[in-house]
Amino acid sequence: MSGPLLLAVDGITVDFDGFKALDTFSMTLDKGETRVVIGPNGAGKSTLCDAIIGRVRPAAGRVLFRGEDLTGLSEQAIVERGICRKFQAPGILAGITARENVALAARRDRSWWQAFGKGIPAEEQASVDAVLERVGLADRAEVKAGELAHGEKQWLEIGMVLATGAELVLLDEPTAGMGPAETSRTAELIRDLGDTRSVIVIDHDMSFVEQLAAPVTVMHQGRFLKQGSVEAVRADPEVISVYLGH
Ligand code: ADP
Ligand code: MG
Repeated sequence: MSGPLLLAVDGITVDFDGFKALDTFSMTLDKGETRVVIGPNGAGKSTLCDAIIGRVRPAAGRVLFRGEDLTGLSEQAIVERGICRKFQAPGILAGITARENVALAARRDRSWWQAFGKGIPAEEQASVDAVLERVGLADRAEVKAGELAHGEKQWLEIGMVLATGAELVLLDEPTAGMGPAETSRTAELIRDLGDTRSVIVIDHDMSFVEQLAAPVTVMHQGRFLKQGSVEAVRADPEVISVYLGH
């Protein structure tokens, strides 16, 4: 179910010393929508995430979130407005438990953890446990995050994103390094996430993209190429040609 316009990426260009990683790229996302962004390696997908979250500054164009121009805001300021990015590399703390990682994510203020050490305040236990349940890690809550399996670490990170309460979630290659069973489980989790959040998922694994059953935006060489259902973009001659590299 989609609502009013949430995000508008409006003609952004990101220039790395004359090389345009993004070239007048535009897309919009409605509140409650899940969108998949695909494109060959180097298409500019991760740079798009970086531009939305304020990690790189576009040379031209704007990013509007709930109508507010985010261009020029710091990453911290953008996160505070309700956008959260799950990185390609895991961002969990290995030495503390899965439950503690979720509790920490729920608090943006990490100094709280240093001040109080171990021990999640009683009033926060229930919401932390609800997140662990939702990502299927309830029975792994007391395991040190560093000892979780690869897939479990990714799901913990998705749980941490959930715990932040962010309205827009950016997931950059959430299935990297996963086998088919873990990939299916991740697709299920993201569909579940889509019930309460707006989500942009970046990936190039077509079997995963099919399982997400969401509209797809195709990028190529920093530009918008196509948008449509998975079936439509898969059958599109231009999309096939950029994927095959001719
Ligand atoms: P994707 O995620 O679609 O594989 P990226 O957004 O990571 O693509 O990269 C798009 C292009 O921009 C690539 O050619 C990449 O080499 C280049 N690029 C990305 N980041 C930088 C950077 N910091 N400096 C220079 N070039 C970069
Ligand atoms: Mg990338």
